[in-house]
Amino acid sequence: MALIAFSGSASSSLLPFKRISGGSKPKQWSQLFHSSSKRFTTSSKPFIVSASTGSNQGFLEIPKAETETSPHTYYNWPDKKNPRVCILGGGFGGLYTALRLESLVWPDDKKPQILLVDQSERFVFKPMLYELLSREVDTWEIAPHFSKLLANTGVQFFKDRVKLLTPSDHLGMSSPMASRCGGTVLLESGLLIEYDWLVLALGAEPKLDVVPGAAEFALPFSTLEDACRVDKKLSALERRNFGKGSLIRVAVVGCGYSGVELAATLSERLEDRGIVQAINVETTICPAAPPGNREAALKVRCLDSGM
Ligand SMILES: Cc1cc2nc3c(=O)[nH]c(=O)nc-3n(C[C@H](O)[C@H](O)[C@H](O)COP(=O)(O)OP(=O)(O)OC[C@H]3O[C@@H](n4cnc5c(N)ncnc54)[C@H](O)[C@@H]3O)c2cc1C
Repeated sequence: MALIAFSGSASSSLLPFKRISGGSKPKQWSQLFHSSSKRFTTSSKPFIVSASTGSNQGFLEIPKAETETSPHTYYNWPDKKNPRVCILGGGFGGLYTALRLESLVWPDDKKPQILLVDQSERFVFKPMLYELLSREVDTWEIAPHFSKLLANTGVQFFKDRVKLLTPSDHLGMSSPMASRCGGTVLLESGLLIEYDWLVLALGAEPKLDVVPGAAEFALPFSTLEDACRVDKKLSALERRNFGKGSLIRVAVVGCGYSGVELAATLSERLEDRGIVQAINVETTICPAAPPGNREAALKVRCLDSGM
């Protein structure tokens, strides 16, 4: 992941950034996992998941007395027997897993029912986020709605945020909960999903607290929202500097693949209205790239684009 810092005036100095190794961190799984499985092991009544689909549109409210906790709305899987696969996160990992499972040929009683959950209603094709800044694409082209992508498939989609995971596979098959399902997922809306198989594909998130000042003054570039924020900031600086002749200064911190591509895209957008400085702790760009790639990137990206 690259960080980016802006300045609209020629006199501003750069922050003392250094390259963040592993600039994104895995999701904090401990925040998502339920620490205790007590409520499942002590429950004398099984959870009820009705297979009927009526006016409740696939959801079934379980009365409080049957769950020992506050009432949740249970996801009502369409089929009682076939494996229930819950996929959390609709990025490359989650979406492609869903589509692949859907495309395989299964015996009738093994065909999985697939539910995909993402906090966003759009799949984001991240390798093209830069093109939003260069205005070569519109949002809908690189971030289509899941509803459209999944329209001709059997994959169900929920836009919701994952709040809590309670796996039960560690409980042993003698436990009522484990013999009934692989665990549950609680979503922010209160919907509770029982699954047989879980795919965790929630991606990574930027870590801004390792460099002093980054959280306050830099913008990450990892999600669609990040790209829109960077675009908005650039547009504001372009408007402010219009006709004044002062340069827009941008520092891109981190010269891996995405930092280099981002710096080059910004340089192309700003042309002679700005200066883009790409900063890396290593003496070269794309240190992890094979030598041929690095040399090509140095030529094309740094020299031709004036970085
Ligand atoms: C600018 C940029 C350019 C890139 N270019 C390339 C490239 O050219 N080639 C390449 O191979 N890789 C590229 N990558 C890396 C690639 O995009 C990632 O490796 C890939 O997206 C990882 O896929 P993922 O499914 O693990 O996570 P993600 O794609 O991040 O998907 C995670 C999903 O989980 C959802 N989510 C997260 N938390 C929650 C929650 N609590 N509840 C519900 N949903 C949640 C998110 O909304 C997201 O849709 C690029 C990355 C970036 C940022």
